Amino acid sequence: MLASLPLRDDLRGHRAYGAPMIQVPYALNVNENTHPLPEELIRAIGSAAAEAAAGLNRYPDRDFPQLRRELADYLGHGITERQVWAANGSNEILQQLLQTFGGPGRNVLSFAPTYSMYPLLASGTNTEYIAGRRAADFTLSPEDAARQIRQHRPTVTILCSPNNPTGTALSPETILAAYEAVEELGGMLVVDEAYAEFARDPDTTALSLLPGRPRLVVSRTMSKAFALAGARVGYFAADPAVVEAVMLVRLPYHLSAVTQAVALTALRHRDQLLGQVGRIREQRDRIVTRLEQLGLEPAASDSNFVFFGGLSDAQGLWEDLLGDGVLIRDVGIPGHLRVTAGTEEETTAFLDSLERHLPDRR
Ligand SMILES: *Cc1c(COP(=O)(O)O)cnc(C)c1O
Repeated sequence: MLASLPLRDDLRGHRAYGAPMIQVPYALNVNENTHPLPEELIRAIGSAAAEAAAGLNRYPDRDFPQLRRELADYLGHGITERQVWAANGSNEILQQLLQTFGGPGRNVLSFAPTYSMYPLLASGTNTEYIAGRRAADFTLSPEDAARQIRQHRPTVTILCSPNNPTGTALSPETILAAYEAVEELGGMLVVDEAYAEFARDPDTTALSLLPGRPRLVVSRTMSKAFALAGARVGYFAADPAVVEAVMLVRLPYHLSAVTQAVALTALRHRDQLLGQVGRIREQRDRIVTRLEQLGLEPAASDSNFVFFGGLSDAQGLWEDLLGDGVLIRDVGIPGHLRVTAGTEEETTAFLDSLERHLPDRR
């Protein structure tokens, strides 16, 4: 029994990350890219994995310079290999950052409602988690961000933009104001840009703010736009000193040779994969428009999902949809649900089911 184990005191009573894993025809609950990988890429990944297999008796390259070079090339903005680091998903990236800069006696601040993994990563690294606040419409002004940072004095501040679960992006002014406050306190600012490729204005990325800002880290992932959630590849760009710092805590050989080969292959096919992003954005905008027409309250989305309110019985609607084989996400915010923008067919299935059940649940 769990309770009888010598569990760390600070983990007692905690619950594991729990997005339901249910087999359904329409899984629109964890913001994956639901488009199948292109056939040609599947074959290319197969050959790359086979090539990597020939060397699996040896440890992989610990520092994976080639992958870092090609990730830097993808990011642009003059970013170099020495500024890039990768891990098994951006969850591991964030964990490594908290292992490096957080820990006992330190705290991490983010602005709720936001990514549900932040408090879990904080607790796993024994870092105190502080849930800062957003305005009632889920926005965060530059003044408010800076004020809360000065109030809580966190060692690490995480800004999620576009934010999960709301889908809303932060303005460059808010990111800059947060950076100034963080720098003043000698902390670190992490901008989690897991959904950056879906933004309506892709030029708003914090990558452009990196020059001259050694306390800024921009985290990205191949799980969403790159349709590679199953491969577990996340990465960050920052000052080279941040990469050196993270190397103090990473496990040696954390990124398997197979993962490196798969990530490189996907990067080299990025035109095909990122071609799906435009189609996903169209479905996202279609959802927003339709929900507005139905009198619901969708948040402005710069991601591949839509967060919407205006429901009196969100949980009931969630169950109704599931009954039709459509799995979306109840993130625990009363009156609200979140749905991933999938293929045109999946979006139609979601909207049809929603329209059928909405009269009972609004
Ligand atoms: C999905 C998501 C990630 C990605 O996690 P991976 O470990 O890279 O799969 C990171 N941050 C946010 C806010 C997310 O929603």
